[in-house]
Formats: sequence, structure tokens, C-alpha cells
Amino acid sequence: MTQAGTGATGLQGGGARRGAQVLDRLRERPPAIWYAGEQVTDATVHPAFRGGVHTLAALYDLQWERPQTSLYDSPTSGRKVARSFMMPKTHEDLRSISTAMKVWEDATHGMMGRVPDYINRAMTGYAAGAPFLSEADPRFGANAVRYYEYLRENDLCLTHTLIPPQANRAVSLAKQADPYLAARVKEETDAGIVIRGCRMLATLPISDEIMVFPSTVLKSGDEDAPYAFGLAIPNDSPGLRFICRESFDYGRSHFDHPLGSRYEEMDAVVVFDDVFVPWENVFLYRDVKRCNEAYARTGAVVHMTHQVVVKNIAKTEFLLGLAWLLVQSIGAEIFQHIQEKLAEIWVNLETMRAFLRAAEADAALDEWGVMRPAWNPLDAARNLYPRLYPRMIEIIQQIGASGLVAMPTEQDLKGPLAEDIKKYYQAARVDAFERIPLFRLAWDTAISAFGSRQVLYERFFFGDPVRMAGALVAGHNAQIQECAEKVRGFVKKGMDEALQARGP
Ligand SMILES: Cc1cc2nc3c(=O)[nH]c(=O)nc-3n(C[C@H](O)[C@H](O)[C@H](O)COP(=O)(O)OP(=O)(O)OC[C@H]3O[C@@H](n4cnc5c(N)ncnc54)[C@H](O)[C@@H]3O)c2cc1C
Repeated sequence: MTQAGTGATGLQGGGARRGAQVLDRLRERPPAIWYAGEQVTDATVHPAFRGGVHTLAALYDLQWERPQTSLYDSPTSGRKVARSFMMPKTHEDLRSISTAMKVWEDATHGMMGRVPDYINRAMTGYAAGAPFLSEADPRFGANAVRYYEYLRENDLCLTHTLIPPQANRAVSLAKQADPYLAARVKEETDAGIVIRGCRMLATLPISDEIMVFPSTVLKSGDEDAPYAFGLAIPNDSPGLRFICRESFDYGRSHFDHPLGSRYEEMDAVVVFDDVFVPWENVFLYRDVKRCNEAYARTGAVVHMTHQVVVKNIAKTEFLLGLAWLLVQSIGAEIFQHIQEKLAEIWVNLETMRAFLRAAEADAALDEWGVMRPAWNPLDAARNLYPRLYPRMIEIIQQIGASGLVAMPTEQDLKGPLAEDIKKYYQAARVDAFERIPLFRLAWDTAISAFGSRQVLYERFFFGDPVRMAGALVAGHNAQIQECAEKVRGFVKKGMDEALQARGP
């Protein structure tokens, strides 16, 4: 076992990065990414990853094309840094953050759930709520602030991993077949801790570092204490391995796989083979109750959900535009049920916009002095979208019908049947060469492996919708009781009236 090459020292970063720096770091410090039985030495050229990697790099270039929107002046170094690291103090700050986040979401149509903004907001939230972490140990709050500043000043990109492997969900972590199935503390030294075991998933293993935080479902008691920790380490830490699923890219053409070839962010199981983590990189430790409360108390979950709703808006705008182009191309917009379906997507879009607007308008300074978006609209959004997104994909399927599979490839267009294709793939308002890429895009959105994974992502990435609903009912109990009181009063009034009418 060797020490993780933590970079959380050296706060003198260069500020906001450009794409070339993102690629350089991946080449110089490659994470131990495993793909199809082999370790990937350079993800920037590997066919399974390069599409997503280059899109990621392009996003960093994009922030320098829109510096007024995407960047702000670091409060410590004065350098330009990514706005998604800002700790908002005013409503205007908050709106400037969502405007900046929309730039990347528009660039990826919301199809790369893990653009770096997502975890940038999480770590900003944890740093803001550092006093909560310090209540357990003053080092932990200081660590969170230092690590956050290190990320901001170096503009690093993170993945995160929360949940244990899906072995036996009926028993606690300690009662799995092997106590080291789920990642846990193996030993503790003066210098740090050693982690052994596994975490179920991390999207974007092509990032620089990883946040390893607790899921919020740890059982209280000493038994789960070794599984309760929050830390962050570089992705090239010795002993850390990412085992990837099959790629949706693999060098496919942008024409044939317009989304998969560009936005493959990848998902991986994370193995900790005795990974050493210095104390400087630890924010939560063996405190089950504090781990379960940390996301909410620090505000991290609120800032992350703020980013998620921006993603939802961009994604729904994309689906609305796509749906319209499909129906318009084949002259289907005259049918009432098609109009109803378009209206449904539009209503979803306006619903998400209203949630974002309400969350920002009703934002208030939290106990840490940070302008925190209002939670109720965001909580409603994160519980609703997992149902809206699959339904909107169903609508794309219903609109596109067989057009979604009657799709020649790029090679067909260049082959001897080009004239046939030109004739038989025409549509009412577009010729074949316009119709084919449009319907291929719809296919990649609604039918392909990439599109199916998007549906799964939206259903689950923020947590199990069933348990999220349970948390919602518990968390908003006072509001529910207030409504119940009104109904109780009405019921009682009706009963009183009935009893009076009956007489003595
Ligand atoms: C595409 C994708 C990307 C993701 N990316 C990340 C990531 O980057 N980082 C990360 O940490 N996580 C990530 N996740 C994981 C996500 O957090 C989980 O999918 C989610 O928390 C649900 O957990 P699970 O998948 O283990 O499902 P399980 O917990 O195994 O649930 C399986 C089924 O059993 C039911 N079930 C299980 N336990 C209970 C219970 N106690 N009560 C009621 N019902 C129960 C569930 O409702 C569900 O129907 C990602 C998921 C997906 C699909």
C-alpha cells in the first residue's frame, strides 16, 4: 500500500482551465480506468472514452469564450475561476450561477448529467457548511474549506460515489456476505485512514478526483460506523480502480450516434484496494448521524439540486425542439393527439422553469451566511423529473414510430444505394439528407443504448425514487399537517352540522 498522491496541497492553481489543460492532466495522471479487461492508459485517445473526454475539454474552452457569464474573480487569488464555485451571498449571485450553469447544459443538451458543475456545487456546499463538519473535529471543516479552494483554484473536475454494491439490499452494510464488500475503513494511522471495499457507481471516471461520501441511508449504531466517512482523493490514487460498463461511443461516427459519440460520460464501479487517505482529505469520519445529516445541514444537496434543475430545463428544451422538428418534418402536427403531446412537454418545461425561478426568488441566507435556494421547489423538481423524463421519451417514441428504426447509416449514404435513399427517405417538409440525421438524433435520444441509459439515469441518479418520496413525506411533514388540519376542520364542521340537524 502506498500513499494516495493527494493534490490538496498547492492552492496556487492557475484558475479556470482550458480544454488542453484538461486533456494534459488526464494524460499525465491517468486514473486506473479498466475497460473490457484492460487498463486504459490514455482515455483521451481510447475509442470508448475519447468522445466524452473531448466534449469535457470543449466545455472548459467554452467557459473562456463566455468569461463574463461563466467565470468570476477568486476571492483569494483574484484569478478568474469557474462561477459554479461561487458562494452566493445575494439573489443576483445565485441567478448568475444558474445562468453560468446553463451554458454547459445547453452545450450538452442536458445529456451529460455530470458536467463538472454538479460536484462543484456539492463541494461548495460542503465548504460553506464547514462549521457543521468542524463540530465533530475542527480539522474536518478546515479540510473541506481547503479542499474546496484547491478545486476552485485548480478548476479540477470530480466524480462522486455514494452507494454500496448491490449485493444484498435486505441487510445492513456490516451484515453483507463479506464485511469488506462495501468500502469501509480498514485501519487508521496518525497520517490517515485506509479504505478497502467497493462502491457501486461513479459516473465520469474520466475526471480528476473523486468525492467518496456517505449515502444518506446508513443505519445508526456502531455497526455501520466503519462505513461512515466523507473524503476526496485524486482518481490516480494507488489502489483505486474504476471498472467501466460497455461504452456507447467506441469510435462511432457523430452522424450515426449523434449523442453517444459525443456525450459518453461513462459509469464505473469503484474498487478501493487498500487506498490510503491522508487526514487532510477527510471531512466526515465514523459518525453515522452526522453523515446522514451532512448533505442537508451543509446545504450541499440544495446547491446540487439547483444545478440539476438547470440541467432539467436544458434537457426538456432539447426534447421540445426535437419533438417539434419530428412532427413538422412528416406533417404530423395537424393531429390533435400530437399537439397534446407537444403541449405536455411544454408544460414540463415551464414547470421546471417555475421551480428554478421560485427556488431563486425565495432563496434566503442560511445559517452559514450563504444564499441558499429555497428547498421546496427544488425537492418537488427532483421528485417529479424522474417521472417526467421517461414519459417524454415515450412521447418521442410515439411521435417517431417506425421512423426511429428506418434509419440508414453514414456508410449507406455514401454507398451505391444513395439515390434510393434520397428518394425513399424524404419527408413532407425536409429532404432525405435532412430527415435522416434528425431521426437518428431521435433514435439516439429514445431508442439506443445511450438513450435507455439516460432514462435510467433520470430515474435513479439522485437516489431511489421510492426512498426519496419517503424522505419527502418526512421532511415536509409540517406542511402536510397544515393541509390536513384544514381538511380536518371541514370534516368536523360537516359532522357538527349533521349532529345539530339530527337534533337531541
Ligand atoms: C446511470 C446512473 C448513474 C449513476 N451515477 C452515480 C454516481 O455518479 N455516483 C453515485 O454515487 N451513484 C450513482 N448512481 C447510483 C444511484 O445513486 C442509485 O441508482 C440510487 O441511489 C438507487 O440505488 P441502487 O441503484 O443501488 O438501487 P437499489 O437500492 O439496489 O434498489 C433496487 C430496487 O429495490 C428497491 N429497494 C431497495 N432497497 C429498498 C428499501 N430500503 N426500501 C424500499 N425499496 C427498496 C428500490 O426501490 C429499487 O426498485 C447512478 C445510477 C445510475 C442508474
